[in-house]
Formats: sequence, C-alpha cells, structure tokens
Amino acid sequence: MIQKFKQKGYDIVDFNQFSDIYIVNTCTVTSISDKKSRMFLRKAKKINPRGIVVACGCYVQVAKDEIEKINEIDLCIGTNEKSDIVSYIEDYIKFNKKDIDISDVFKEKEYCEYGTVTYTEKTRAVVKIQDGCDRFCTYCLIPYARGRVRSRKPENILKEVKDIAKNGYKEIVITGIHIASYGKDFENNYKLIDLLENLDKIDGIERIRLGSIEPLLISEEFISKLKNLKNICHHFHLSLQSGCDETLARMNRRYTTNEFRIIVKRLRELYSDCILTTDIIVGFPGETDEEFEKTYNFLKEIKFYKMHIFKYSPRKGTKAAIMENQISGDIKEKRSNLLIELSNKNEYEYQKEYIGKEVEVLFEEKEDDYYKGHTANYIMAKTKSNENLINKCCKIKIKEIEKNELKAEQ
Ligand code: SF4
Repeated sequence: MIQKFKQKGYDIVDFNQFSDIYIVNTCTVTSISDKKSRMFLRKAKKINPRGIVVACGCYVQVAKDEIEKINEIDLCIGTNEKSDIVSYIEDYIKFNKKDIDISDVFKEKEYCEYGTVTYTEKTRAVVKIQDGCDRFCTYCLIPYARGRVRSRKPENILKEVKDIAKNGYKEIVITGIHIASYGKDFENNYKLIDLLENLDKIDGIERIRLGSIEPLLISEEFISKLKNLKNICHHFHLSLQSGCDETLARMNRRYTTNEFRIIVKRLRELYSDCILTTDIIVGFPGETDEEFEKTYNFLKEIKFYKMHIFKYSPRKGTKAAIMENQISGDIKEKRSNLLIELSNKNEYEYQKEYIGKEVEVLFEEKEDDYYKGHTANYIMAKTKSNENLINKCCKIKIKEIEKNELKAEQ
C-alpha cells in the first residue's frame, strides 16, 4: 500500500504524526489484535480530527458491521480491495463515495501481485509468496479473512528477488499465510522446495529465511532437497500450538506429537546448529490440567530456543468459540507464565553455548554504540566497531550474554 501511495505522489509519514489520511491495516488473528486495531483507529482521529481515517484488511473483512460502529472511521476497505486503496480514498475525497463492497475472499483464485515486499532495516526483505489458508484450524479466523490458498507465480517471485538482490539486500524472509501450501493451486506440481531451489541460485542473496511453517512440510523428501541448498538459514519456526495429542485433535492441527518429534529429529540431524522456535496456545477449550502437563513435558523435551505463548481467545464464527469447557482467564495466565518461564530458561541455555565461540552476524542496525544483527540461525548478537558494519556479514567472538543478546569480545 505504501508503494501505491508513493507512486501517486503521496508522502508517507509516521502514524503518530499529523496527517491528511490515516490507514490502519487491521489484523484479526486474536481478540487483542481487534482491540489494538480499534485503538489505533480512535487514536488517528484524535491526532487529526479532520483527517480521513481508513480501516482496511482482515478485521474489516470478517466483521464489517462491528467495525462500522466506530464513529472515528471514515472508510472501510476489505482484504482484496486493498490493492485499489488509493482510488477508493480519492473517490471518497472527490465524491464522498463511502460504500465499498467487500468481495468474497473465497472467490479469489489468483495471487500474483508484484511489489509485495516489505523492507526491514537495510538488510532484510520480506517476500510474500502466497495468500490464504485451507486448513481451518478450529480456533482460527484467517481462512475466512484471507480465503483459499493462492500462490504467486514463481517467475514473478524470482524476478522480484533478483531486484531485491540488485538493491543490495542480502537476506530474504519467505512469508505467507501458510507457506507450506505454496503451489497447491498450481497444476504443474511446483512446490515450496522447488521455489527455494530457484531462489538459492540468485546471486547476491546470502540468506533465505523461512517464515512460520507447518511442521508437516518437513517430509523426508523435503529434507533430501533442503540439504543441497547453501543459503537456507538454520532457523525454523514450526507452529506447534500444543504438545498434547488430544488438544491438537480438537484444534484440527492434523499432526501428532510423535510426528512432530520425528520432524524435529530430521532437522536437528541435518543441521547441528539448528534453532527451532514455535507458537503455543494455552487455555484452549477443554485443556485440562493433565493435557497442559502433557504440553509442558513435551515442550521440555523438544527444548525450543524461544516460544511465543498465546492465551486462547475465542474468535466469533470459529468452532472452538462454541466448544464446551472454555478455560478461565486465571488458568490461562498461570499456564502462560509457566511456559514463558520455560522459554526464557531455554533461550539463556542456548545462548550460553555460544560463549567463547565465533559466530557470523549480518549487521542490521546501530544502537547505543553497538552494531547489532542476527546469526543465520536467528540469535541476536552485537559488537562495537570503528568501521560501519551495517549490511555486512562478519564473524565475531562471543564473550558474554547481555540483555538476551550475544555480546562480542572487544
Ligand atoms: S494453518 Fe490454521 S492457524 Fe494457520 S492460518 Fe491456517 S487455519 Fe489459521
């Protein structure tokens, strides 16, 4: 959207600044995201009461009636309509045209936009390769907000990544709603691993990082091809959600803890420096103390580097929202704290292993006299230097851990 506005000559300013137009690209993944979206919409009108406040994206897509009740909003734009956002806003300014039909995301068959890259820092470009999800986990609204799986054509992605490399970016992050489903809608059996093989050959790209992946993607066939790729980062975010088979079944996650265990073994055998991170939902409907204990023990066994813990929040319209035995806030809080504690402990123990060792870091920013960046397996590290290290890949020797970051010897 930023690129589309820039092409039309608009200036982009920070959200907190006075502006003529404010756009809130809403997220509806949890009820907290809904709340934050509402908060930002109200905040925008406070900064400039005469400004045009636009709500767009997933929350609008699934709950237009609810969002339209917010007085501060001038215009609501659905997920698919975002690609024409500039003309919708200009029509509003010129003709006061407010009624914008929200199209049915399930009717969308293609996803082929060029220019869907988000650049973070000066070193990393986030490349979205598909949209939509067909998995229908019982707690999730995303398939309703994003529709069926639509994959970007490989030639389109490869062209974009070549441009990214020409612009000096060394790292790309492959993202989407469900990247394991990439290619499912193609007729020629071209899959994610085929795309990765082609991306791995692009000159100038030194790191290919995978965004969150569905564990079942890591089949033996996938591993046998992955091992030949030189630029794949040895960091995998495997969305587990629960370490208890009964809870997983109620979530409709379609794998068991034993299958997950095998997947982890495959990755750890392939890469000795493999770092695994995950997402966990606590307090899913019906999660008894015994079920939570199973999750806790499984997480202890797998020992992820980091875990993002979410307290289950019911999403209207999903199967889980009407399941029996919803869990109280207190229990969710307690379980969440236990897992956060475990995650922090794991993080420290992993980082400790690097003391006295050399790591290669791609430096992204300078903060408080330190150049900071990530290792290929996604551990934050920092060093002082008289030379400008931004966008450089350098080896540093680790002396200690400071604020959850590896700190180099000076
Ligand atoms: S895989 Fe499940 S949790 Fe992830 S987007 Fe699809 S339905 Fe939602």
